[in-house]
Amino acid sequence: MFEEIKNTKSTTKIRNIRSDFPLLSEIINDHPLVYFDNAATTQKPSAVIDAITNYYAHSNSNVHRGVHSLSQKATELYEVARTRTKQFINAGKSEEIIFTKGTTEALNLLAHSLGSLLLAEGDEIIITEMEHHSNFVPWQVIAGEKGASLKVASINDKGELSLEELESLFSDKTKILAITHASNTLGSINDIKKISHIAHQKGIVVVVDGAQYIPHKPVDVQDLDCDFYVFSAHKLFGPTGIGVMFGKYNLLSDMPPYQLGGGMIQDVTIEETSYTKPPQIFEAGTPNIAGAVGMTAAMDYITDVGYDFIVQHEDALLNYASEKLNMIDAVEFIGKADDKVSLISFNIKGHHPFDVGSLLDQTGIAVRTGHHCTQPIMTHYNITGTVRVSFAFYNTFEEIDAFIESLQRVIKILN
Ligand code: PMP
Repeated sequence: MFEEIKNTKSTTKIRNIRSDFPLLSEIINDHPLVYFDNAATTQKPSAVIDAITNYYAHSNSNVHRGVHSLSQKATELYEVARTRTKQFINAGKSEEIIFTKGTTEALNLLAHSLGSLLLAEGDEIIITEMEHHSNFVPWQVIAGEKGASLKVASINDKGELSLEELESLFSDKTKILAITHASNTLGSINDIKKISHIAHQKGIVVVVDGAQYIPHKPVDVQDLDCDFYVFSAHKLFGPTGIGVMFGKYNLLSDMPPYQLGGGMIQDVTIEETSYTKPPQIFEAGTPNIAGAVGMTAAMDYITDVGYDFIVQHEDALLNYASEKLNMIDAVEFIGKADDKVSLISFNIKGHHPFDVGSLLDQTGIAVRTGHHCTQPIMTHYNITGTVRVSFAFYNTFEEIDAFIESLQRVIKILN
């Protein structure tokens, strides 16, 4: 059966896609690279690398403040990125797209600015046990600063959230729910559309961390009806140092700024300062223009590949890898949610994940080990870390075979 899956799925399309990613042909420790660390960051297609090079070679200038032609060119490219992002996630308008350094900065911005707008003493913020530290710590700190309390919805041993339990935490004091769309450690997907609907009935503002979902499945923020949706370009085949914060305009326009300085003011006098409107009010200083250009190219590239293909191929990879790992006695899965993005966390009984990861690296297999910035999940399972393999649409069944063979060698060495 495996052979059948492999033959039908390892198509010319994958071969062509792989040739678009120069890094995928690297040799690591005398072995062809098998890159299974896509949840940490993805590789970049030539289209993205070329777009950034071309920007610096032909269009580099500062945005928004110049009258000269180059500045206007840079401004146009930067604003094209905003429109492209709006289309990519189906936001209502371009002004709802704020560029940040990435997911982490967007969540810090929200904890600060949305927290200032909504939170008073005695209020509640709800997060979940499966949040990345980026969607955990900022809320913990702002709750402390505002005299609000932080409630955490727990997960079951499969790594799934119970919607009933989540709902039972909502009260008249709950102002914000901050929740991940997909867990970077467990892969579990949360039903954001349903959760937004329930939360909105209680007037709760919904913040979604989309960092691990959007590289795998299409996102439509109007359909999800969440109030905020954030993600990083580098996990989406784009450059590091740029990300997106979508927010509903009525909330954005009431929120105070996060950083102060150039580009976000209306008027400055010695006595006082007035600010511009969203999106500029949240983009103080010179932005990552080249990053925005690279992210546009990444979104174009993904659109060309097509989410239909991405979802189908990654589901097949996930099933294939899960079944192969399941045949190895020493493997203990961490997280077995029914609905998952294409990543698997596991441990080898009695062995530290670092040892497994380092030995896999000897044969060119790149995996991530550790707590993956989700220590509350580690506490839940009473472990210190996991080995995580995370797939992208350019990965192949042959790579999974190479990984399984290498893992069996690792288990022999460790025993
Ligand atoms: N949230 C999730 C679910 C993540 O996986 C990550 C990255 N591992 C982040 C937030 C933080 O993203 P970044 O480091 O790009 O800001």
